[in-house]
Amino acid sequence: MQTIIRKEARVPVVWEGDLCVLGGSATGLFAAVRAARMGLRVAVVERENMFGGTATAGLVNIWHSLWDFDGREQIIAGLTDEVLESLKRKGQCLTSAGDRNTANRFNPIALVRELDILAETHGIRTFFHTLYAGAETEGNRVRAVYIQNKDGLTAIRAERFVDATGDGDLMRDLGEKRYFHDRLQPPTAGFLLRGETGADLIAWLIREHGSEVGLDDDWGWFTDVPGLPGISFRADNHVFGLDLSRADDLTAAEFEGRRRAFALETLLKKYVSPEYGIVNLCSAIGIRETAHYVTRYQANEKDLLTGARFEDAVLRGTYRVDVHHSDDNGITFKELNGEMTVAYGKGSPPVRGNWREDAGLTGEYARWYEVPFPLLIQETWQNVIPAGRMMHADDGAFGALRVMVNTNQLGEAAGVACALSLEEDIPVQELDGRRIRRALSAGGSAL
Ligand SMILES: Cc1cc2nc3c(=O)[nH]c(=O)nc-3n(C[C@H](O)[C@H](O)[C@H](O)COP(=O)(O)OP(=O)(O)OC[C@H]3O[C@@H](n4cnc5c(N)ncnc54)[C@H](O)[C@@H]3O)c2cc1C
Repeated sequence: MQTIIRKEARVPVVWEGDLCVLGGSATGLFAAVRAARMGLRVAVVERENMFGGTATAGLVNIWHSLWDFDGREQIIAGLTDEVLESLKRKGQCLTSAGDRNTANRFNPIALVRELDILAETHGIRTFFHTLYAGAETEGNRVRAVYIQNKDGLTAIRAERFVDATGDGDLMRDLGEKRYFHDRLQPPTAGFLLRGETGADLIAWLIREHGSEVGLDDDWGWFTDVPGLPGISFRADNHVFGLDLSRADDLTAAEFEGRRRAFALETLLKKYVSPEYGIVNLCSAIGIRETAHYVTRYQANEKDLLTGARFEDAVLRGTYRVDVHHSDDNGITFKELNGEMTVAYGKGSPPVRGNWREDAGLTGEYARWYEVPFPLLIQETWQNVIPAGRMMHADDGAFGALRVMVNTNQLGEAAGVACALSLEEDIPVQELDGRRIRRALSAGGSAL
């Protein structure tokens, strides 16, 4: 590739404060809100026109269960619970406590406004339509980040930075060690559809007519949208074979994802009823996985599924290992109680097994798993915390931890950690995770 040399230029500093969060999904916004509640002056930089990331721009409208595996005890609270309760009061969220895997379904459009209010009431300085575009370092600290928006290239100075960009854009620019799993979980372009369907109808349609519009028999799911009767959220299929941390692949995935969405609409209109229609497309394709960055603790399937306990835990969860296959239209699930399911396509019967029996495990299964604070600690940069799906994890653990009730907790922990490291004037690497856990608990987390 040819290069050109960019001229040095003076860059205006448009904001200075305690914490700058890059990426404004619930992960990033919850980091910001927890830090603001502890007295920090906080800014969030978000490239879309809204907070929420995959839950709003991607329209993905399920936050899983906040209760332990047997439904005996609430193990997740904090901002996830606050936001869901507020949506419920407005008729925009339904909870089916008994169903761990679709426990909280909400209207993703209502969530957009809910997160606006959360940011406004906490005095978060918000930069929408703004891309994080580079970092300035001094020794082992990030001094400033560059941002690009309609004002051109400007800069933000802060004492602490949280990288909540999903892909780990700041970590990439800082040269942190990264890796990709051999089998990257593929993305999906979600959309909202008018018109009722059942799983059998979709399976029949794809089996009989999918080839007419280039749709294969892929595994997928859909669910109702509370507050919008007759509308469902669709994640019926995937886009395969692309690495969405690359600009060209990201563009190609948007084209292919939208093509697939409209192909399904075409079949529904032609073979079932002309009344079906796409009423909202995701404004950004839903990315399941790109790069991972090395931190002090690597989450792993064994610790997770056997329920390892940590005195510095910052996350509790029950959501199953859920790996969308990169190469064969299938999906693998592993539950804490041992149940294992592998499903291929929409029509074929799932293959069932038991991973606990296979591993020779007897006795009680864990009712939840935990993740310790060192998952958030990279070793080089004294004032940077990565939080979100760029987490250091093997593919099984990632399959479980990537869901939003979990990434939301990582965001909250990152915000609290920034506040405490600033208060104690110590690098993030010197923080005592047990203190973070106590502060999270005092601030409403169920830890
Ligand atoms: C189709 C699909 C279905 C899923 N289903 C579920 C489900 O039912 N329930 C569930 O809980 N989880 C589900 N997941 C997983 C979950 O949504 C994601 O793993 C989770 O949202 C990741 O959160 P994150 O904050 O790390 O990343 P993201 O949600 O990707 O958020 C990153 C944010 O950073 C912003 N950003 C990125 N780069 C920059 C930059 N350079 N400058 C400024 N801003 C930037 C983005 O716009 C975005 O707002 C699903 C994922 C997909 C793709």
